[in-house]
Amino acid sequence: MELARRRGFIWPSFEIYGGVGGFYDFGPLGSILKNKIIQKWREFYLIGENFFEIDSPSILPEEVLKASGHVDHFVDAMVECKKCGNSFKAVDVAREATGKDIEGMKESEMDEFFAKNGVRCPDCGGELGKVFLFNSMFRTTIGPGSQRVGYLRPETAQGIFIDFKRLQRHARGKLPFGVIQIGKGYRNEISPRQGIIRLREFTMAEAEVFFDPENPHHPNFSRLADERIRLWRAEDQIKGEEKLVEVTAKEAVEKNYIHNELIAYYAALTKKFLVELGIPETAIRFREQKPWQRAHYSSETWDAEVHTERFGWVEVTGIANRTDYDLSRHAKFSGEDLTMVVGEEGRKVLCHVVEPSYGIDRPLYCVLEHAYTEEDDRKYLKLKKWLAPVEVGVFPLLKRDGLPEKAMQVQSLLRSRGLLAEYDDSGSIGRRYARADEIGTPYCVTIDHQTLEDNTVTVRDRDTTKQIRVPIERLPELLTSLLRDEIDFEGAGTPVKK
Ligand SMILES: [Zn+2]
Repeated sequence: MELARRRGFIWPSFEIYGGVGGFYDFGPLGSILKNKIIQKWREFYLIGENFFEIDSPSILPEEVLKASGHVDHFVDAMVECKKCGNSFKAVDVAREATGKDIEGMKESEMDEFFAKNGVRCPDCGGELGKVFLFNSMFRTTIGPGSQRVGYLRPETAQGIFIDFKRLQRHARGKLPFGVIQIGKGYRNEISPRQGIIRLREFTMAEAEVFFDPENPHHPNFSRLADERIRLWRAEDQIKGEEKLVEVTAKEAVEKNYIHNELIAYYAALTKKFLVELGIPETAIRFREQKPWQRAHYSSETWDAEVHTERFGWVEVTGIANRTDYDLSRHAKFSGEDLTMVVGEEGRKVLCHVVEPSYGIDRPLYCVLEHAYTEEDDRKYLKLKKWLAPVEVGVFPLLKRDGLPEKAMQVQSLLRSRGLLAEYDDSGSIGRRYARADEIGTPYCVTIDHQTLEDNTVTVRDRDTTKQIRVPIERLPELLTSLLRDEIDFEGAGTPVKK
């Protein structure tokens, strides 16, 4: 986190006014990294899955969220300290004070639990008031002086359900079909204390996969059937056993660990996505939510979790079976027919939905933590090359003899070919390499006196620190291939002896 702040990945928001918990800015490097993660997600879902994308408002009128159940059910149990007035999530206070999990208890049972265990305010030791429910949506009004209530959206999914009538026409009667939306979501967390892991405003990438409940299959299931996933089933959690079963997606369905083929498919796809971002397989597991942990709309939910040193296991994706809950509720509340006519027989179907819902901010943190490497006297970010916010560092060996001018030409050449190349001439070459390592720049190009003679430069590899010498004219193509892992570094040019 220190490095992430210092080098411009993540900054606390509103810093000069003392900051506000639960909000973070992405700095110059963080913004690029975040956009690259989003772009990769699009490659998986828009291109790979052949889904449609929409972009709908992030303020929703109250009737939408009444229908979706969020006005009644998007609540957290909280307590307030009678002495200092600070408020807390009831389950967090209980866990911190006793190590016990009180999730799923009624408010009165929580009160009893607190009294019996003598739980007091974690900030000042004062007496706690009664547990009450707090709706964690941000409320606003739409229009000046208007009585029309609106909320900042708690999920992007609702925008997709609302557009279902038009979307199903776009799908031309074919099931399953999927729709994605990427954008901000909001949750008025009671007391966010986990940095970027618990945000009040966050970026989500959600896919709603509409399917026929009489044919709950993914047409390309075989493509991921042999992908291995590690599952922590609800029944083992309830028994208190931290036991992971490792199975293929196919076995997960056959053994009925996962009750829906589409959920198994999207779990396997999520694993592939996380591995693509550079998260090791051994740090990924899927945790089934216990019945009382599930959202009000879900009949089965599996969370992809990534292990981190700082926060332990972090939920990064939720894959839920939303059944026909949303479409049937919106049909009822709006009075519109939200069924779909399917196939040649013209059967009317009320679609069911499986939803893979990704946070973007949390995986970004996990990527940074897993990339951070300390080796001997080196510290570097071992980011996947394609993810690096600076793809190429361009350095003149010295700040004289025409080397800076030549280096700036090389930078322009690389930028004109779409590469994120950054020029740096401050400090010794060793310090510049160290700075580039720290932000995960995979390749550094150095312009030296030999460059002026024969138009060749050295290229240094971040992970091995080995160097090769190559002609400038080959540089754009070579670096592009290297960044895509299409060619081997050492064979790409003449090795340079140190
Ligand atoms: Zn207090």
